[in-house]
Amino acid sequence: MLKVGIPRAFLYYNYYPLWKTFFEELGAKVVVSDPTTKKILDDGVKCCVDDACLPLKLFHGHVINLKDKADVIFVPRLVSVRKKEYICPKFCGLPDMVVNNIKGLPDILDVTVNMRSSPVSLVKAVVETGKYFTGDCRRIYRAFGRAVDEHREFEKRMESGLTPLEAMEGEQNRNFNEKMTIGLIGHPYNIYDSYSSMKLLEKLRARGIKIITQDMISGDIVDNIARNFSKPMFWSFGKKIMASAGYMTENRLVDGIIYLVAFGCGLDALVGDLVERKLRKAGIPFCFLTVDEHTGEAGIDTRIEAFIDMLERRNAV
Ligand code: SF4
Repeated sequence: MLKVGIPRAFLYYNYYPLWKTFFEELGAKVVVSDPTTKKILDDGVKCCVDDACLPLKLFHGHVINLKDKADVIFVPRLVSVRKKEYICPKFCGLPDMVVNNIKGLPDILDVTVNMRSSPVSLVKAVVETGKYFTGDCRRIYRAFGRAVDEHREFEKRMESGLTPLEAMEGEQNRNFNEKMTIGLIGHPYNIYDSYSSMKLLEKLRARGIKIITQDMISGDIVDNIARNFSKPMFWSFGKKIMASAGYMTENRLVDGIIYLVAFGCGLDALVGDLVERKLRKAGIPFCFLTVDEHTGEAGIDTRIEAFIDMLERRNAV
């Protein structure tokens, strides 16, 4: 049975159930890289250019982790996943970077998805990917149909208050009895990777804090809010982050918002500033946390403690 490797990085947190179902329906075995460790990060740092962002270095480390475990590694070239929207240019060059930076890789399954002007590109990418496993187009479409159903279920589970990892593991929504609620926003690969986020989400929950992330807010709500932006936001992640922060604020769902960003991310620098201005106007406390491979956990812990103390004092008044 052909083993397909999926790096536990970048859009793993958005699309893993879809990709897994698709490959398994086509008869492949799916292998995921291990959760991030210092070695995975160090391996990624060694083979990547210095000024790459932390998530890009981690992606390289995860591909190295899969090198000897899979017959083929899935590294799609994602240009756009929504009409009239783009994702970061780093995603467009991902397969080229990986192939040129890492020696001794197995096959790389590299297909282009560019839905900026039409969804036809997705159909082509699906067929091209499926043909790696079978020549039967009907089987490919059937597999993709099941994958899309799984993806919708996954999104629904997240909208019920679960993180992507909890939704993947089939956890049920828990009864929260928390003393405060914090909105945690940022790219999914920053906020849900326990190693690079220094267990931020887990630490907040351990303090009895309910967390709402942008992925717990439905896509329809995000689209409705984004329609009222003064200018269209053409970055898919930026749109979701801004609209979610707006929704949490306008509906007073949170006591404060933490925005976790990777050092050197141009998109986050811009979106962070826009979000901060909006929250300042609305009087919602905001904490902008930046991480890179040199960030010390103690510094992050101090910032979190100070932010929570401030929210507690504010709520007590
Ligand atoms: S959006 Fe930012 S963090 Fe994500 S890949 Fe691009 S530069 Fe890196």
